[in-house]
Amino acid sequence: MQNGLYIVATPIGNLGDISPRAVETLKEADVIACEDTRITKKLFALLNISTANKKFIVYQNYNEEDEAQNILDLAINENKSIALVSDAGSPLISDPGYKLIHKAREQGVFVSVLPGCCALICALQLSGLPTNRFLFAGFIPNKDKARTDVLNEFKETKATIVFYETAQRILKTLEAAKEIFGEREMAVAREISKVYEECINGTAAKLIEHFSSKEPKGEMVLMIAPASEKDFSDLDVEGILKQKLAEMPLKSAVKEMVASYGLNKNDIYDLALKLKNE
Ligand code: SAM
Repeated sequence: MQNGLYIVATPIGNLGDISPRAVETLKEADVIACEDTRITKKLFALLNISTANKKFIVYQNYNEEDEAQNILDLAINENKSIALVSDAGSPLISDPGYKLIHKAREQGVFVSVLPGCCALICALQLSGLPTNRFLFAGFIPNKDKARTDVLNEFKETKATIVFYETAQRILKTLEAAKEIFGEREMAVAREISKVYEECINGTAAKLIEHFSSKEPKGEMVLMIAPASEKDFSDLDVEGILKQKLAEMPLKSAVKEMVASYGLNKNDIYDLALKLKNE
């Protein structure tokens, strides 16, 4: 096995979801970089992979900066192969790893990825919401103001917005989402690839009703349908464009308006020229 880093996805529910290639890689790797050795060693036991002669390194957000170079040095100086895993699912996606891979790229260390479970992708597939354009926004903040700010930030985004969320916080989030998104369709996918897997679609109000009568449990992903044209019907296009023209060149202002609100490029360009000449 070539020295370097191997990004290995592990199951988010059913153990059988791990790929044979991932199992082989975990068997062969010299070093396992993981978030929690107890969780990863349990996975190894379930997969019948021996942990003898393997070095386990704890790699978490709090020690990412320090540990990244140590891990890379093992590949560079000692010819080691290192498998990077999370507690569950795809490493780097709301899990540690990006700094390590960034450094590996800078230092020319071999990196390979073994595709597998990723909660956000599975949730999108279950939801039936548009998948041609989506935006993953990670975990929703816990504080009231930060939560509202984040939801507001995406109110006009013309893509399905995907958030990781927890059972304890979902009702608070849905209450905030009801205020901001009104009748917009949403979906909550929970316990993916587990016995009680389900996906509930509806407005925030409907989802609140559901989780008020059935206690929210397990791991979950919240998705919000893209903003549609009618969500922009009361948009002050001229006002926003004027503001942008005061802050940036005309071309950039037009580009931002088109990207943010899906407006017609020629129409916005003509309006920008008119405003500029006024
Ligand atoms: N890196 C992992 C991935 O993308 O697959 C996610 C890690 S993140 C720390 C954990 C969050 O992922 C959970 O709070 C939940 O929002 C989501 N998640 C993980 N497993 C899940 C499952 N089986 N069903 C639904 N959501 C899940």
